[in-house]
Amino acid sequence: NTLYKVDGWGAPYFTVNSCGDISIRPYGVDTLSHQEIDLLKVVKKVSDPKSTGGLGLQLPLIVRFPDVLKNRLENLQSAFDCAVQSQGYEAHYQGVYPVKCNQDRFVVEDIVKFGSPFRFGLEAGSKPELLLAMSCLCKGSPESLLVCNGFKDSEYICLALMARKLCLNTVIVLEQEEEVDLVIDLSKKLAVRPVIGIRAKLRTKHSGHFGSTSGEKGKFGLTTTQILRVVKKLELSGMLDCLQLLHFHIGSQIPSTVLLADAVGEAAQIYCELARLGACMKVIDIGGGLGIDYDGSKSVDSDVSVGYTIQEYASAVVQAVRFVCDRKGVKHPVLCSESGRAIVSHHSILIFEAVSASSCGTPQVSSLGLEYFVELLNEEGRADCSNLFSAAIHGEYETCLFHADQLKQRCVEQFKEGSLGIEQLAEVDGLCEFVSKAIGAYEPIRTYNVNLSLFTSIPDFWAIGQLFPIVPIHRLDEKPAVRGILSDLTCDSDGKIDKFIGGESSLPLHELDGNGGSKYYLGMFLGGAYEEALGGFHNLFGGPSVVRVLQSDGPHSFAVTRAVPGQSCGDVLRVMQHEPELMFETLKHRVEEFVHEDNDMVSGFARLFHNMPYLVAPSSCCLTAATANNGY
Ligand code: PLP
Repeated sequence: NTLYKVDGWGAPYFTVNSCGDISIRPYGVDTLSHQEIDLLKVVKKVSDPKSTGGLGLQLPLIVRFPDVLKNRLENLQSAFDCAVQSQGYEAHYQGVYPVKCNQDRFVVEDIVKFGSPFRFGLEAGSKPELLLAMSCLCKGSPESLLVCNGFKDSEYICLALMARKLCLNTVIVLEQEEEVDLVIDLSKKLAVRPVIGIRAKLRTKHSGHFGSTSGEKGKFGLTTTQILRVVKKLELSGMLDCLQLLHFHIGSQIPSTVLLADAVGEAAQIYCELARLGACMKVIDIGGGLGIDYDGSKSVDSDVSVGYTIQEYASAVVQAVRFVCDRKGVKHPVLCSESGRAIVSHHSILIFEAVSASSCGTPQVSSLGLEYFVELLNEEGRADCSNLFSAAIHGEYETCLFHADQLKQRCVEQFKEGSLGIEQLAEVDGLCEFVSKAIGAYEPIRTYNVNLSLFTSIPDFWAIGQLFPIVPIHRLDEKPAVRGILSDLTCDSDGKIDKFIGGESSLPLHELDGNGGSKYYLGMFLGGAYEEALGGFHNLFGGPSVVRVLQSDGPHSFAVTRAVPGQSCGDVLRVMQHEPELMFETLKHRVEEFVHEDNDMVSGFARLFHNMPYLVAPSSCCLTAATANNGY
């Protein structure tokens, strides 16, 4: 728990159990059920074809816990309900989930189902997202909001107007000034009275990486001048009563409630001004930004942490809106937020396996003899060598490292000139390592190869340096023997994880079982938002397998209610317009032509085209990926 700070970032859902495995408490700690699911047991059940009812799914694997999703939604709602009640706020909170955070069908359907009792709605930012939201909300509460954000062409606006005709509680939020002309025009043509919102470009600016969307120069929203022009246009076309919602979004991971209250206060002023100008204002939509504490530090100065709880967030919002509206004598608006990260991050865990690790033998001093090695060096090289030894004898760490570096560079120069052989070049590394290790200035960092594509499964690490807690999901009762970085299976030098929460440049890891007997599983936590949605096909690695796990009878029982294998080579090739069936036929003919009847080779191709693109563990044969049940 302490080493990997599980209590810090994981509470109340993740903990280390008495077996040294990570356990999931789907409803947090303070429930009567004391439900706890051992993650290793889930992974073994779904990946090991030999376990009872095992599915043989290959890793990487996403394990989803819908109960965690439900708990997150309920926590958010009750935090606002509590703030509304305790502050005497005279309207309610009804949030929406921005589907861009994770568009997976079952995630969105679950959110609509779990949120229906408290009118939780959806936010869409494109036409496909809108179609998805429309069909899902048909099964939700009729009062749930359907907020339409993003760039809009006439087709998008027509679709949003149709949603209104279908009695979905749709709001078209203007993000660009021009959109108002399209909305006025098309709503008249389709004879639909729209509900319109305006996204305001606030002056309040959020610092840090996620703040680039905020401030006057932010990409989205209308400036005050544009807002006034839109109001005029709506008034002239007799549609000012359609303007009912004010929206803003100053960026994800808002670090503090001070900044939050500042932004909400500014937006509340605009809201009141719009009411004064004659708009029929009803809702204030404060966008996303409710943050996640990825490293458990509760720090306000970092992109990977936030200094508040959900309750403090909700209280700050309610207080800021109430304060402004009371002063201006404006009726309290319905409060809406578009929290994505805070709702979906915890519910899914990415599991992957360390398939091999770089060796870490004792550094070798010249087998040819130190004197012979030194003799071959030029004068400067010999001076470096003697400085290195002298620094080592005196225990001067920094000087020792400096001279080791100098010596290495000098040897490379000599090698390039041709006066040093390849054996000496290899041995200089061993010599420098040996000396550094002898004085304790050298801790070897191992490279663990993990069966994962960073670009597919943790794209934000590569793109924006986002850190996620990464932890072995078992053997946590055993002291890790080494430190390592993680290298993925793509042939891209960026495909490695060498930064970890807590500012660490390596991770404490356990030795792998060299005989390939027991597997070593790691989990990436809090990645339920954005990572699946942003992941690409670099190196043609497809998405991971996905399972959905529910608690069942008994405090430690679980049921796998859905299992979907990851994309096959054929699936990912198809994404790039290749035709796997034709490719298979071509290779089959080639086999017939050159190696004649070789059914094993042909069936090997067939399996590869249909099974996962990831490396199978070294102990398995490379063309015999196990088959998995689809959607059982
Ligand atoms: N709403 C809008 C308009 C956004 O752009 C975003 C994300 O960038 C969100 C909501 C979700 O934000 P978060 O995930 O921080 O809650």
